[in-house]
Order: sequence, then C-alpha cells, then structure tokens
Amino acid sequence: PSTYRGKRVVVLGLARSGVSVAKLFHKLGAEVVVNDKKERDLCPEADELAALGISVICGGHPDDLIDDRTALLVKNPGIPYSAPPVRQAEELGVDIITEVEAAYWLSPAPIIGITGSNGKTTTTTLIGEILDAAGMKPIVAGNIGLPLCDAVQEVEADNWIVAELSSFQLKGTSAFRPRIALLLNLAETHLDYHGGMEDYVASKRKLFANQESGDTAILNWDDAVCRSIASELTAKVLPFSLYERLDEGLCVEPPYVKGQFDGESEPERQIVYRKRAEGGSEVTVIMPVDALGIPGRHNTANALAAIAAALAAGAAPEGIAEPLTRFKGVEHRLEFVCVRNGVSYYNDSKATNPTATTMSVRSLKGPIVLVAGGLDRGSDYMELLPVFKGLKGLVTLGETKEKLLRVADLAGLTKTQSVNAEKDAESTLREAVKQAAKLAEPGDIVLLSPACASWDMFASYEQRGSIFKQSAHTL
Ligand code: ADP
Repeated sequence: PSTYRGKRVVVLGLARSGVSVAKLFHKLGAEVVVNDKKERDLCPEADELAALGISVICGGHPDDLIDDRTALLVKNPGIPYSAPPVRQAEELGVDIITEVEAAYWLSPAPIIGITGSNGKTTTTTLIGEILDAAGMKPIVAGNIGLPLCDAVQEVEADNWIVAELSSFQLKGTSAFRPRIALLLNLAETHLDYHGGMEDYVASKRKLFANQESGDTAILNWDDAVCRSIASELTAKVLPFSLYERLDEGLCVEPPYVKGQFDGESEPERQIVYRKRAEGGSEVTVIMPVDALGIPGRHNTANALAAIAAALAAGAAPEGIAEPLTRFKGVEHRLEFVCVRNGVSYYNDSKATNPTATTMSVRSLKGPIVLVAGGLDRGSDYMELLPVFKGLKGLVTLGETKEKLLRVADLAGLTKTQSVNAEKDAESTLREAVKQAAKLAEPGDIVLLSPACASWDMFASYEQRGSIFKQSAHTL
C-alpha cells in the first residue's frame, strides 16, 4: 500500500465502502480522486471528503478520469466491468480492485471470509457471536455493514476480522487471503451481473485462490459444486453436512434424510464435530439441534458452518452452545412479526431468490399464505413449483407477479391473488398484506418471502421488510 504514496488512486462509487477506502488511501498519502455518476446533492459524503482535500467528482464520469498517471482503480462492487471508466482502466493496464482487496493489504489481523448464495449474513453474525462469547473480540464487517477498510483500522493484530463477502466483492480481488474461508452454497442467483453461472462460481472460487496449506477451507458437503471445488484447494478442507456422517468435519447425528420435511416425530439430533483419530474418529458433541435459537434446516447448516469456522479460529468447543442458543436471528430473515386474528406474520424480506424462499417455507410449520414477487432477474421460478404445491395461498406483487402466478397455476394452487401497483410501493405492499390476511385463517402463517430482489419497487429489502412489518402490525 505504501507504494501508492503520491500516486493517483481513483475510487469509483461513493457508497460507504468507497468513502472508507478513499479516506484510507488519503491517509497513506495517495492523491485520491472519488467519482460517482450520481449528482452531488445525492452524495452526502462528498463534502466531508472534499474537506479532507480529496477531489470529488459527481454527476458523471469525465473522459479523462483514468489517465496514464492513474496507479489504481478501486471500484464499487456493484459497478459493472462494462462501465466506461473500468474499461478505460483495463485498456491502460491500471490495476482494478474492490475495497476488500485494499483492506486485505492493510489488515494487521487475520480474516475469516464468508461467501455463498444464501446464509452469508446469518453465518457471519453467528461466527461473530461465538468468537465474542469466547472473549476473542472479533470485528464483524464487509457486506454486512461496517466497511472492511474501517475494520482494518480498528482491529488489533491478534483479533479476527469476520468478513461477509459477496461475489461482486470477490471478483475484484487478487492477493486477498482469508486464513479461514467459508463457501456456504451456490444457487443460480446474480446471473444477470455475472453473465452466467461459470463466472459466478469463478468469483466465489477466488476466495480460496491465495490460501496456504495452514489455512482452512470450510465447504458445504451437501452442495455438489462446493464439494467439487475441494480437490483443487491448497488449504485444509473442513467440510460440513446435514445429510452425511463425515469422518472429519461438522455434521448432524443422526443425519437428516434428504427431501424429507422436518416433522414432529423426528429423532433428537446433535451437532457434532468429528475428527479422524487413530482407530476411528473422535467425536465432540457441540449441542442439540433443537437448542439452536434460529429455526429451519438451512439455519442448522449455517450453524454448522459457523461452528467449523469458530473451531478453526481457536474457540473452545464447550463455549459454543451458549451463544448459538441465545442468538435469535437477524432482522428481515424469517423474522417473527406478530399474531393478528390468530394468524402469525413472518418477515423474510431478505429471501431474494427462489432457493431462499424454498428454505424458509420449509422451515415453518403450518399452512402458509406466501407474499412474493419483485425484481425480475430472469430466475427460473419453476424451482418454486414443489413449494407452491404445499402452500395454502399466494399473493404476488412487483415485476414477477405474473410469472409467479403461472407457476402457482401449474402447482394447482387456487387461492391466489396478484396485486396491481398502487400509487406507491408502500400502498401496494399494504394491499398485498391485506389480501394475504383475507386468504388466511386462524392458525395459519402469512410469510413475506419474495424470492426476488426489491429494487423494482423499493429502495432496499430492509425498506420492504419494514413496510411489511408495519402493515401487519396495523391490520
Ligand atoms: P445472505 O446474506 O447470503 O443473503 P442471509 O443470512 O441474509 O443470507 O439470509 C437470507 C435468506 O436466505 C434467509 O431469509 C433465508 O430465507 C435464506 N437462507 C439463509 N440461509 C440459507 C441457507 N444456508 N441455504 C439456503 N437458504 C438460506
């Protein structure tokens, strides 16, 4: 990083991580230029950066933004590689990275990196909770909130940075080396950005690219793609599985049966850590599955991954059960809202793809009226067919409302409604909640689990979830 002293560093995208990385390079003595195509009045941080002496250009990308004096381009993960300044940088041979790579260069502390299609925030939070309970003072950062470039300035060398990483962030890394790397699962999401599954998988693989033999790679053994990556890795592989009894790794005993729903009559299960030892394997019981504070089989998988990471980071097995019992989940993820007229409302606004919605529907017990629909990313909603077969009703909204209704039709679901756009997004979602309430009877569940991103109507999934909660409370 010190090689950038006096050099021109361009930061593209003035979001939180952009602000953080700009300040960091400024501190290191680089000549920092920040650029965003948004108008300046939409960039509240612009004045603060300008006051530090950082040059801030808003309202478009000037043609000469990337010149032959530019040493580095730090790109916001959401900006596509087809954006003109990124293309220019490529043509001029300027290094292009994301904030994650810069944070890695500057981090005095080792990093636990978590990625996957679903479960990242939950698993990242769980790891933070376990390490915290173990007195290890972790810093949780990345895609989850605190920018990594802020985290590296706060952390001490003997603490862990627990970093949630998106495939977009990973795509812009080159030397990034997490000592502990987790790949939770791979579903066919984000295909529009990556232009195909191959590029998406390649981005996720970058997580392991620089790992060394003393490092740990935690992989989901129940996911064929994750499993297929194992043989290529330099790091020690620590697998986890819901369905297999592993010789070494985190698993559930007795194992779950694939395809079978969780039911009342199931045997009591334990989460165990198995380790190969002379004459067989050594088994450490961590905790009963039932004691986990978060519901659903997918969350058990998240817990297995988190426990594996915590053990690899040096947490003692005996201290793990307590934080995992106490932790009740993250907002907007299968979050219980309230009971109205005997109907329970759950907010799962963060379920932005069909796989996530499938998991959530399967985690709840009772007849479900689902509220779904949102941004059309070209996903194959046929994946939802088996889930729709088991629903009591469906209310759709947003860009995908017709597509989802067609799947419901094939599933033979008759209690369906689609909600037309009202004057604003809030009124539309309120109307959807009212319709769902009408379809539900006492004892039922109304679940917002959209299977789609929110940006067709809302500013964020948080906004969508908050409006849903408010609508349920005020029914
Ligand atoms: P991410 O940060 O990867 O988006 P979250 O932890 O925020 O993941 O969870 C988002 C949604 O994904 C949850 O509401 C749930 O419906 C679903 N989900 C969580 N964990 C898993 C998992 N391991 N497998 C499949 N779906 C999951």
